[in-house]
Amino acid sequence: MNKNPFNICSLDQKSNCKSCINNYRLHCKKDKNKLILSLLVVFSTIIISFFGITLTTIITGIWWFPVVYSIFVILFFMVIEIRLTCSHCPFYAEKTLRLHCLSNILSPKIWKFHPEPMNIYEKIGSISGFTFLGLYPLLIEIYGILYMMSNYYEMIMLFLFVGIIIATIISILIFFLLFLLLYCPYCLNFSCPFNNVSKKLVDEYLKINPVLREAWEKSGYKIGED
Ligand code: SF4
Ligand code: SF4
Repeated sequence: MNKNPFNICSLDQKSNCKSCINNYRLHCKKDKNKLILSLLVVFSTIIISFFGITLTTIITGIWWFPVVYSIFVILFFMVIEIRLTCSHCPFYAEKTLRLHCLSNILSPKIWKFHPEPMNIYEKIGSISGFTFLGLYPLLIEIYGILYMMSNYYEMIMLFLFVGIIIATIISILIFFLLFLLLYCPYCLNFSCPFNNVSKKLVDEYLKINPVLREAWEKSGYKIGED
């Protein structure tokens, strides 16, 4: 079975990388170490955030705080973000049942591949989703600490809460810094709102991947023009 029906160079074992200008300038081949690092950071951020939100529920008795977070995380990383962002990524073009790229190996591929760039609604959706992911745990935990201080006061709980808020802030900062500094500047999903690969490298990638080039040019992109 041909696992690379769109002829993407990143999915081709025989691609001519040695003479390619993008070699080592983009994260254009699968990389197990980057995948492990990404999964570690994503999972630790989610677990720490979930712990802080659950602690707030124990203190306030408001049960839906962790339920909303759990449903959001599952839907966002398994369904919504995959459609909004990943379905436009060259790694998504591989004919497999699950995504397999530098950051994700768990999400099912229920959408078709979209070689064209992300549109404005998809970009807004993606930015909104990541904003919610970062802000929701912090706001809930801040609410928890304010509730505790105005209703009852236990030193041990207060220390625990302050500790979990600091851990949540640090994990969310590491999450965003890792991706914004170490992944997004080299990522193949060029139309993603967080991507900042230079136009020169984007043009070179499109030139050697005709399916992407055709879809991008149809959407108005011009190779060689700023
Ligand atoms: S852009 Fe394609 S051909 Fe060039 S180095 Fe990356 S995978 Fe190889
Ligand atoms: S956008 Fe990122 S997470 Fe999504 S398929 Fe591409 S490399 Fe993977």
